[in-house]
Amino acid sequence: VQDSSKAAAPANGIEIFQTILTALILAFVFRAFFVEAFIIPTGSMAEGLLGRHGHLVCPKCGWEFSFGPAMPAGDEAFIAPETVICPNCDRPTDPGQDPSIQRAGDRVIVHKWPFEIGGPFGIRRWDVIVFRDPADPESNYIKRVVGLPDESVEIIRGDVYIASAGDPSRIARKSAAAQQVLWTVVHDQNHRPTPLGQGASSSWQSDGGPDSGWSGLNTRVLRFSPNDSSNAIRFVSNAGHETIYDDTGNNNRLAENAVRDLRVGAELTLDRSGAGARLRIELTCDDTQFEATFAADGEVTLEIEPEGAPRTQVAHVRSAELRSGVPVRVELTQVDYRAAVSVAGVELIRTNDSQYQPPRSHSGRPMSFVRLIGHDSPLTLRNVRIDRDVYYTQSYRSRRAIAGEPFHLNAHEYFVLGDNSANSHDAREWYRVGPHMRGRDPAYRAGTVVPDQIVGRAFFVYLPSLVPGANGSVVRVPDVGRVRFVR
Ligand SMILES: [Zn+2]
Repeated sequence: VQDSSKAAAPANGIEIFQTILTALILAFVFRAFFVEAFIIPTGSMAEGLLGRHGHLVCPKCGWEFSFGPAMPAGDEAFIAPETVICPNCDRPTDPGQDPSIQRAGDRVIVHKWPFEIGGPFGIRRWDVIVFRDPADPESNYIKRVVGLPDESVEIIRGDVYIASAGDPSRIARKSAAAQQVLWTVVHDQNHRPTPLGQGASSSWQSDGGPDSGWSGLNTRVLRFSPNDSSNAIRFVSNAGHETIYDDTGNNNRLAENAVRDLRVGAELTLDRSGAGARLRIELTCDDTQFEATFAADGEVTLEIEPEGAPRTQVAHVRSAELRSGVPVRVELTQVDYRAAVSVAGVELIRTNDSQYQPPRSHSGRPMSFVRLIGHDSPLTLRNVRIDRDVYYTQSYRSRRAIAGEPFHLNAHEYFVLGDNSANSHDAREWYRVGPHMRGRDPAYRAGTVVPDQIVGRAFFVYLPSLVPGANGSVVRVPDVGRVRFVR
C-alpha cells in the first residue's frame, strides 16, 4: 500500500502543477479577451444599475429606494440632496449626511466579444454596453444601445422611433428583458404612507363616494362589496393629480414628464357567491381607453376604445387559472403602443399594429389614467401595484434625435441612451471630442459610439453597492439581492 501511494505522489504533483498552469493561462486569456470588471460611476442607468448612491427606507411609507448625489461628485465625498422624493408615496424626506446612507456603485462584469463579426455576436438594440468616453480616453461610460448603424433615431414623447434604409419611421419596442428592468414603481399598495393626513399622497378615490361598495382604500387590501351593480375607483397620484410623472430618487426632480406607458397589476380573488363576478382594469393612454375584464367563469377580455370611435374587442380567451375563490395575479399593460393582458404571469392577449399603433402626428402632453371597476359580486385585491416605463426626455441640452429632427447613423455608428433619462449625459448631448477620437478616417462624429471604442456588453452584477468606510476605505458588504444578470 505504501509503495503504490509513493508511486502516485509524483504524478499527482505534476497534475496539480498542470491544473494550476492551465488555470493561470485560462484566467489570463479570459481576462484579456472575454471579461473585465467595471464599476458603475454615475446614476445614469438607475434604477437598474446604480452608481455611487444613497439608500433610504422612506420614513413615510417604508419603501426602500436609492437616490443620487446632490451634484455629480466624481471622486469627492458623496453629498446627499437636502430632500429626496419617495418614488412610491411622492413625499419629501431629508436623507441627512450620515455616511451610513451611502453606497458605492454597482460592479459589473463586461464580456468582450468579437462584435465586428456581427450575427449572433453583434450588438443588438437594448443591449447595455461599456465603451470609452468619446471626450476622455481615461474614462468609461455604460449606456443602453437604442440606434444601430444606418438607422435614423428620433425621440418622440418619451419613446424611441427608428427609420432604417427605405423604411418609414417605426416605434422601437423594448425587448422583454430590457422592459423588465425599465419598469419603475409608481404606486405599491403594500406601502401606504402613515399618517395619511400629512400632505398629498398617492391613493385611490371612489367615483361613487362612501356608498361605492369599495372599502380599505388606504389599506393593503382593497375590497368591493356591491351596493349597486358596478362601481369604479380611480388612481390619484402626486398632490391630487391623476397624471403620473417620471420622477424617481435618482433624477433629483429633474423629471417632470407625464408618462403614458403603464403596468397595472393586482392579486384578484373573486367571491364564490356570485356567478357574474368580474373585475375590470381600465387604462386610458392619451385618447385611447383599454379595458381588461377578468370574470369568475375564467373569461378574459381586452377591449379598445379610441376617442370618437366605437369600442371593439381585441380578443377574449379562457384562463384555467382564473376561478372564483382562488387568488390570481392579473395585469394590464400598455407600453410602446402595445396593450397586453396577463393572468398568473402568462400573457394571454396583446394588441397588434392594426389594432393599435402610434398616431401619424404626435401632439399634446402624454397622459394616462387608471381605474379599477368591480361588478355584481364581492372581490378582493391584494398586492396592487402600478409601474411606469422609462420616459426618454429632451432638454435644452439635447442636440440630436429630437422630435422632428431624426439623427442619422452612418455605417459602424451606434446611438446610446441612459435608463435614467432625465439625469443621463448620453448621445443626445455629447459635443466634446477627445484627442483619441480626432483625425480618424472616417471622421468621428460626436453623439455616436464606434465599434473600436466598445469595451463589451455588461452581463453580470457581481458585488454591488459596497459601503464606503472611513478614510476612503471600502467595507465589503455586498447587497446579495442585487447580484444578477444585466438586462
Ligand atoms: Zn414613501
